[in-house]
Amino acid sequence: MLIDSHTHLEMPDFKKDLEVVIQRAKESGIEYIFTVGTEKKDWKRALEIANSHSSIYAILGVHPHNAKEIDDQTYPMLKELCRDGKVKAYGEIGLDFFRNLSPREIQLRRFREQIGLAKKLGLPIVVHDREAHQETLEILKSENAEECGGIIHCFSGDYEMAKVCIDMGFYISIPGSITFKNAERLREIVKRIPLESLLVETDAPFLTPEPLRGKRNEPSYVRYTAQKLAEIKKISFEKVAEVTTKNALRVYKLL
Ligand SMILES: [Zn+2]
Ligand SMILES: [Zn+2]
Repeated sequence: MLIDSHTHLEMPDFKKDLEVVIQRAKESGIEYIFTVGTEKKDWKRALEIANSHSSIYAILGVHPHNAKEIDDQTYPMLKELCRDGKVKAYGEIGLDFFRNLSPREIQLRRFREQIGLAKKLGLPIVVHDREAHQETLEILKSENAEECGGIIHCFSGDYEMAKVCIDMGFYISIPGSITFKNAERLREIVKRIPLESLLVETDAPFLTPEPLRGKRNEPSYVRYTAQKLAEIKKISFEKVAEVTTKNALRVYKLL
């Protein structure tokens, strides 16, 4: 049994065969899927998918790419939608200084605000950090994010960053890119992070793991990431599945 702790089933990439994808995940032993609606047009769809499948939960928030689209109606709408019992976290929120699709100062401000909102809602946060490790850490600390805790998804920082986040009550989520040939640095870091702090995710339709790289990613492929994790840590696949599942259930308050 495995959990795909972070995916995007509401994206158009799954429009044609969503039910087949969900069925395939079930048959591969994926017990739960957490689908992340990252912008206004996706929230209702994510919630709809969660509400029509017992194995799927939703995560809602405004992605740093879309931070510039936040207006007066955004937070009231999110507050309303997040009241649904199928919403288990707030996100993904954070900073993306790689693509910079929203101006940096807006990303910083909206990240802070959304941590505050998640705390009010009593939800853990899902953090997206790309090329903004220092600023992400600063904001997590200054906004007392340990009060909500959550997940650093698609982790790309160094071991010291992982350690600080874990000490604040965060989990570190590992995507399929850990299987890539050039991911030696990430593998070395993951080797040092205790299994008790790790989750696995696909971030589908993105980041398809080896040996399927090039194809669209989907939740059933999370097993390749778990397999790689077992290899890196020299433990059994079953152990990785058991502990990462327990970790995900704990952070999403399903235990
Ligand atoms: Zn992300
Ligand atoms: Zn994502």
